[in-house]
Amino acid sequence: MGFFTDTSVCIGCKACEVACKEWNAIPEDGMELTGMSYDNTVGLGASTWRHVAFIEQRKPVSVGPDTDVLGISPQGAVTPGREEGELRWLMASDVCKHCTHAACLDVCPTGSLFRTEFGTVVVQEDICNGCGYCIPACPYGVIDQRKGDGRAWKCTLCYDRIGDGLEPACAKACPTDSIQYGPLDELRERAAARVETLHDAGVQEARLYGADPGDGVGGAGAFFLLLDEPEVYGLPPDPVVTTRDLPSMWRHAAVAAAGLLGATALACLTGRRR
Ligand code: SF4
Ligand code: SF4
Repeated sequence: MGFFTDTSVCIGCKACEVACKEWNAIPEDGMELTGMSYDNTVGLGASTWRHVAFIEQRKPVSVGPDTDVLGISPQGAVTPGREEGELRWLMASDVCKHCTHAACLDVCPTGSLFRTEFGTVVVQEDICNGCGYCIPACPYGVIDQRKGDGRAWKCTLCYDRIGDGLEPACAKACPTDSIQYGPLDELRERAAARVETLHDAGVQEARLYGADPGDGVGGAGAFFLLLDEPEVYGLPPDPVVTTRDLPSMWRHAAVAAAGLLGATALACLTGRRR
């Protein structure tokens, strides 16, 4: 199970951020005006498990003047017929990617991070010892330690809700169905059809991010339809599970250790003969 987030219909209402905070009883993380458009939560963190980005661009939208954009994008995240240089907003709700190959889980020494029966990745806060190994391991910079607590926190994909057959709180609260929850195969099919619709309507920039099971993390359990390059949204263009090279590193270390042991034994033997 997972998420398909269609950013082309996100209206930036932040209902997902609020629902996530309320359902999971996440503490407030300060109220500061950042000056970054309407984004005052800045990014994902220990106390922000959903984050709605507001990206302001002076870029014309590439849809033809006759396109019924309201028909293809009911909430009007893209607007047709804009003049060169006029402002557009890209709004996108980011979350933990619940990677198929999750480095955070690989490096956790206590088993606090585990793969659920739904294929999602969850931290058990009562087992986390605050070592922080998972933080640099995440290729997306998602998981984070909470100040004054020390433990690692992130989206659980509402493990308690989905276990009871309920939708995750953020998807339930989303008024435009920008956040869709369901079996990943179904979501991938729906997302591919949506990209085709947008391309037919002239929105050539529409693309999927994280939907490919052959990518560097084996496909994300939370993937996105974007309207520009991933970097524009602050997402890594080609994420790779950071523990990918660990087996070969251990192999090399074992070979080096065996060589050292052999050389020491040889030195001892030849030393005795003299
Ligand atoms: S996005 Fe980061 S925190 Fe989430 S499952 Fe992947 S590695 Fe773990
Ligand atoms: S799935 Fe649940 S925990 Fe994850 S971002 Fe949505 S509301 Fe928050």
